[in-house]
Amino acid sequence: MGNHEMVQKTVTRGKIGLLGGTFDPVHNGHLAVAQHVLQALALDSIWFIPAALPPHKASHADGGSISAFSHRSAMLALALAGYSAFVLSDIEAERPSPSYSIDTINLLHARLKETTDLYFIIGADAFLEITTWKKYRELPDLVHFVVISRPAYDSGEIGECIRRNFAGYASDPSRSIWNSPGSRGSFILLHMEPVPISSTEIRDRVRDGKDIQGLVPSAVADYIRKNHLYA
Ligand code: ATP
Ligand code: MG
Repeated sequence: MGNHEMVQKTVTRGKIGLLGGTFDPVHNGHLAVAQHVLQALALDSIWFIPAALPPHKASHADGGSISAFSHRSAMLALALAGYSAFVLSDIEAERPSPSYSIDTINLLHARLKETTDLYFIIGADAFLEITTWKKYRELPDLVHFVVISRPAYDSGEIGECIRRNFAGYASDPSRSIWNSPGSRGSFILLHMEPVPISSTEIRDRVRDGKDIQGLVPSAVADYIRKNHLYA
């Protein structure tokens, strides 16, 4: 490889955000988070990665069963259609479920040939459960974690979680970026005006016959109605 190519390679290093979730259904909170992170960290794109979960087996914390992957990804496709920087990724449907984040991330690194920095976006609620994830200690060496505040979760609790579970990471004075000398990844705490919307609330409202206008894109609301989801 000549010098010129090497320079090119350095300057064109990409930045991709990853937003994984159940997306049952995708809602305006997900879109607001993605838009905020895209701008705040100047990412090239954000990949929405619905989890492939075994049908019938998996259920929500509220007891209802999780919608088929085909429904969840169809709703995502409708929600993302208007955003050129947002991409729907089927990567977790290609492999036997359930997919672990560590496996998905390793697969992405292999496919992207390590020319891209990955930003793993996660709500504070999900981040605080990180110790239940497969090989979670390896994750911050593979990706930058972007932790988003949600209502009822504060940054002190997140800092405490990093300190307790990830040896060697220390924060900058703003307490919003955590680095470790030996690691290529980091933890980035991003504050945004909380968007108090959850998929649970949407499923509840549909079940109770209430309006979900303003909580999901209208094409998603139409899809839910036509396919009798959450009824
Ligand atoms: P459920 O109520 O079924 O748990 P959810 O609204 O949390 O659904 P998920 O698909 O579980 O949606 O979320 C995917 C990711 O998006 C998670 O990291 C979650 O923390 C984050 N997220 C979801 N809603 C918001 C929101 N309103 N603000 C910030 N982050 C969010
Ligand atoms: Mg959730």
